[in-house]
Amino acid sequence: MGLLSLGTPLPWEEARKHADHVRKHGIIQFLNIWNRIKTRRKDHLLWGDEIEYVVVHYDEENKQPRVSLRAHDVLEKLQALEMDAIAKGEVFESSWKPEYGRYMLEGTPGLPYGYTLEDTLAVEESMRRRRELATSLLPPNEAVLTMTNFPLLGSCGFTEPSATATPDSGPSMSLFIPSEAINPHARFPTLTANIRERRGSKVSINMPIFKDKNTPSPWKEPAPSCLARSSTKSLSTAVAAGCSNGEVKATEQAAKSLDQEHLPSLPDLVPDALPDHIYMDAMCFGMGCCCLQVTFQACSVEEARLLYDQLAVVTPIMMALSAGAPIFRGYLADVDCRWNVISGSVDDRTVEERGLKPLDHSRFRIQKSRYDSISNYLSPGPNYSGGCSLSPDLAKIPVEQLSSIPSKGMEFYKDQYNDLNCPYDPKIYEQLREGGVDDLLAKHYAHLFIRDPLVVFKELLDQNDELSSDHFENIQSTNWQTMRFKPPPPSAPHIGWRVEFRSMEIQLTDTENAAFAVFVVLLVRAILSFDLNLYIPLSKVDENMQRAHSRDAVHREKFWFRRQVVGDPQRKLSELGCKCKGSTNQTVAQAIHGEGYVNGVANRDDPDAFDEMTLDEIMNGKPSTNFLGLVNLVRRYLKTHSEAIKEETRAKLDTYVDIVSRKASGDLQTGATWLRNFVTSHPEYKQDSVVSKKIAYDLCKAVEGLAGKKVKGLNC
Ligand code: ADP
Ligand code: MG
Ligand code: MG
Repeated sequence: MGLLSLGTPLPWEEARKHADHVRKHGIIQFLNIWNRIKTRRKDHLLWGDEIEYVVVHYDEENKQPRVSLRAHDVLEKLQALEMDAIAKGEVFESSWKPEYGRYMLEGTPGLPYGYTLEDTLAVEESMRRRRELATSLLPPNEAVLTMTNFPLLGSCGFTEPSATATPDSGPSMSLFIPSEAINPHARFPTLTANIRERRGSKVSINMPIFKDKNTPSPWKEPAPSCLARSSTKSLSTAVAAGCSNGEVKATEQAAKSLDQEHLPSLPDLVPDALPDHIYMDAMCFGMGCCCLQVTFQACSVEEARLLYDQLAVVTPIMMALSAGAPIFRGYLADVDCRWNVISGSVDDRTVEERGLKPLDHSRFRIQKSRYDSISNYLSPGPNYSGGCSLSPDLAKIPVEQLSSIPSKGMEFYKDQYNDLNCPYDPKIYEQLREGGVDDLLAKHYAHLFIRDPLVVFKELLDQNDELSSDHFENIQSTNWQTMRFKPPPPSAPHIGWRVEFRSMEIQLTDTENAAFAVFVVLLVRAILSFDLNLYIPLSKVDENMQRAHSRDAVHREKFWFRRQVVGDPQRKLSELGCKCKGSTNQTVAQAIHGEGYVNGVANRDDPDAFDEMTLDEIMNGKPSTNFLGLVNLVRRYLKTHSEAIKEETRAKLDTYVDIVSRKASGDLQTGATWLRNFVTSHPEYKQDSVVSKKIAYDLCKAVEGLAGKKVKGLNC
């Protein structure tokens, strides 16, 4: 999780006074980086993955799984190993970072992977080694799981050692999450408290319950038994704090009449808790989930911008395929993904920013949480003359001579795709424009910089803006969007412009995690190699993001996607050596697929048209409209490059692509479906949406058993 500065964190009332200072210097720091490397165009397509783990402790006597807060000590040991290696001038095989939960670990490869297709294969072994290494530091009754959400997170007694939620104090004031579950590094409790204080109430998350045969309707969750142990005073404070529409006074009155002996249901107790929903009131419910992220280095800033845009369209699709979160706080949900939970869990917008009251003290009406889908395409920018990662010749040309190459300009970008009402700070925009940044990139950062810095360290207020990017990263790394556009840190001149793909849920097995990571890597190559154009209006990408949450989206949802993704069919046809005339989808489809692809009618539609398609169609193609599908494009990419790679490499890459293809066709289950089916077919399950401790125990044990294996129906 991003940058971790050290020092004395300021409480919100103090931190807010420095917001303008941090923003202003953050932009100066960005401009310094920008001016230093805006013209660099020879960086390799390196990449790396990030895996988040939850460490689980088994109470064998009571058959109950808990999250192990000792993971934090394991992290310290892992980091010590890494530091030892660095001290000896060696590269450690993996790198370990703290994550939000004290029970979590985050592991990346020690160094990013190389840029050849052969290098891509290192990923699964690296993931397997990371799991082994972390496991080797655990006692026998603990395990490292790659599970998007721990099924009992926030239910009574879910931590080991045991800890109690303190609804009237601590950073989250949660009814469910004890402070001890949060990583003790100053950044995390401060983020938690300052988000709550800036917002003016606790965060408020309601995910729909999965209604099974015996689930009451309406379903009102009984107040958890451990709440009855809280004092009336602490409950009243908690109830008032859990009122996010600002009507705290009335709520306080109601809370005074609480009777702990006979607590009402959660919806009757807490104004924010909705009937038929699983209510969550703390940052930990989202940031305590695990995900899979992939970062790429582009050869130039223009190529990074192109990849940012093209991949943004794919983020909901890959999230739906990687779905892994059907259970929250011990209940089956009617969704399969974590995203809306995590988005709500750090939503620091004030009542005014959320549009519930007219703007008075706040500056902007803001449509989205800081953790959300992107709101602006960047376009490749005015200086784009073609991707260079895969074209070494272009990379070798000095920047001054690039003007002699016919420019592709903004390539496929059109303003109509940026159709979201996206507020930006006009002062920041001006500062960036004056610094020589073009309109779209300036709008991007002026949008990210509408946010306040949440964690301000007293000692780090004054910095050398030439050498530091701390203020810039402060805002940048607390905008947790589906894609992140990352300039290199000033301290590492060897690093280039990077983009991070952030929407995927963690997979239960290393093979699946490797398959998803490799698929995105190959898709990046196909996008660059075939000049793909995936643009659709961002409002449609946002709709897709919501649809991606649906239970069993593979079978039950359709997603907006472009009908024609080969950006310039004429150019593509000539590159593919096809002499055929015309520029229909059909001829391109045939040129890419071969003669077999003839079923469909030629599509002479508006080339910008988009359609609703199933995940199977988007990935595996839709012959009736000659839509190729992303999997086929990736396969074609591999075919055209098979001479450059060993046969075993090709075979291994094919198996990864097959896994993703079969997840999309429904032939393999998503993690979410697998977990849901495990619960609903457990002998103790009463068809009432409840995931009991024993079910969760068996589930965690089963997931632990999957890790290094080939599992029929899931990854093979
Ligand atoms: P953050 O903490 O912001 O997510 P990190 O810098 O810790 O980012 O790295 C995240 C991922 O980026 C890791 O998988 C790492 O291997 C990868 N990475 C680091 N440097 C590069 C690079 N130069 N090119 C591509 N990927 C990189
Ligand atoms: Mg992380
Ligand atoms: Mg990351």
